[in-house]
Amino acid sequence: MKQIIRVDMTQLKVTAEDAPEKYKYMGGRWLTDSIICDEVDPTCHPLGPYNKVVFAPGIVTGTDAPSSGRISVGGKSPLTGGIKEANAGTPFAQKLARLGVKAIVIEGVPKEKDKYWLLKMDKGGTKLHKADEWMGKGLYEVFPSLFDKFGKHVGAEAIGVAGEKLMTNAGICFNDIDNRPSRYAGRGGLGAVLGSKGLKFIIVDDKSSKGVEILDQNVFNKGTAKLAKALRSHDITKPGGALNTYGTAVLVNIMNEAGGYPTRNFREGRFEGAAATSGEAIRNICKERGGAGMTGHTCHPGCIIQCSNVYPKPDGTEHVSCIEYESDWAFGANCGIDDLDVIAELIWLSNDYGLDTIEAGGTIAVVMEAGLAEFGDGARAIELMKEIGKGTPLGQILGCGAATTGSVFGVVRVPGVKGQNMPAYEPRAVKGIGVTYATSPMGADHTAGYTIAPEILGVGGEADPFDTKKAELAKNMQVETAYIDSTGYCLFIIFAVLDYPEGLEGSVESCNGVLGTNWTTDDVGRIGSEVIDLERSFNKAAGFTKAHDRLPEFMKYEKLPPHNVVFDVPDEELDKVHAK
Ligand code: SF4
Repeated sequence: MKQIIRVDMTQLKVTAEDAPEKYKYMGGRWLTDSIICDEVDPTCHPLGPYNKVVFAPGIVTGTDAPSSGRISVGGKSPLTGGIKEANAGTPFAQKLARLGVKAIVIEGVPKEKDKYWLLKMDKGGTKLHKADEWMGKGLYEVFPSLFDKFGKHVGAEAIGVAGEKLMTNAGICFNDIDNRPSRYAGRGGLGAVLGSKGLKFIIVDDKSSKGVEILDQNVFNKGTAKLAKALRSHDITKPGGALNTYGTAVLVNIMNEAGGYPTRNFREGRFEGAAATSGEAIRNICKERGGAGMTGHTCHPGCIIQCSNVYPKPDGTEHVSCIEYESDWAFGANCGIDDLDVIAELIWLSNDYGLDTIEAGGTIAVVMEAGLAEFGDGARAIELMKEIGKGTPLGQILGCGAATTGSVFGVVRVPGVKGQNMPAYEPRAVKGIGVTYATSPMGADHTAGYTIAPEILGVGGEADPFDTKKAELAKNMQVETAYIDSTGYCLFIIFAVLDYPEGLEGSVESCNGVLGTNWTTDDVGRIGSEVIDLERSFNKAAGFTKAHDRLPEFMKYEKLPPHNVVFDVPDEELDKVHAK
């Protein structure tokens, strides 16, 4: 029987319980949502004693299913005020699953302020240890000392100084395959919730664990083989394919060409510095500088897509891993910065402080809009980021994200939904992603329903990006994504799953193999819809209405070059997305 580990940060007490029958088939986002909906009052203060943080590996995480090392983290978001699920690919997830842990639930707040704790989990049990010695330090300094102390083979979760200071853009950091502090369940400020609970780290040691039980090995093998074949066949996910060769930043030139690459705080849809900051440029620099530079890197063992990279300094030593599309854009085009070395430094700082790069870049763009820096001024952007690390009053504001920063400095043009800044796709030029941003229970989030696949990439069919009838597409993508986020597979399997029926079948059959279920591909819709319904019911009880399912006003009247379009999807179309 898999266990739920409950950590009471008020009493500093850890208990283990068998997972209730109702959670038996759940994993990932499905499980974190369910526990939050069952146990957290939607009206609670996100940083108060009644919020909880739940960690759960996906259904197939910890097995040798391809690209399946995801950890889901859930709680009430201090950034949006609604439910939040963020996930990351990391060895931590695989080790937690192999230890037989279905979920970790962190609850309560400490009696003593400014005391931090480390949760150590291994085959012998789970214990809290003092972690004060690591307070106030950057994660690039902290991680090597953690692995020196606990062994290179463990999985690590951490919050940085942003989480300690309860900044609402604090993310939750995990180790990557080489034990860097670089893999983030970044969005929604859940790092601040952990900070409010005084939990700085979780260390998982799966040595001598039994591993993940697979109830029907034949079904599992058949399913994973089908999915792996689909991944190895698709142009986007195959070895030597687009993601493997250029990383996710392969999208820079594509989105720029489409006129949907948000530039200078969403003022334009094309960036003159796109080519210089593209996936192609990253690959060339890795090759030219050599040394530590590489593409085709991976976040955890067992990924066959391998979309990550290690970006080198001019002398070939490592600068940061990785420059992926969203981070590249957030600190690049969105701030008008066209220098990859500056972008690499801004990502490094963001990782070091424990921030979500999308929100951090969006915040810098908003203060540029406010006049605290010129667009394109990389040196000033670095100075502003360092304010966050130092925890100055300005830094504390910036660390609370774009919406808070916009309010403080009187900026009207804040491109967010439900308090969360938009990612790297312009909704005026690609309407479906705007519908996802508006209607996802998560706030503006491209990963909540990646309509870019059919609208721009021609994957899963074709959809005209300017067509405003996108309710059905946005709904289907949100539902499918909620299913994938529950399985433990990386969202990037979606390309092969959308284009090859056997890819989707394989993902379902691999779950059947682990769980002993008889799901068919029809269950994908059932599971995904249940997840979305849970999230919407939480948000409704927290006070959200359909008025919150809207894009910022300026996008309705400000024309976006080069296509000179506004966001003209009618409110009725937005309201159709989740209508019963
Ligand atoms: S495709 Fe990229 S993000 Fe997904 S598991 Fe592989 S390396 Fe990680």
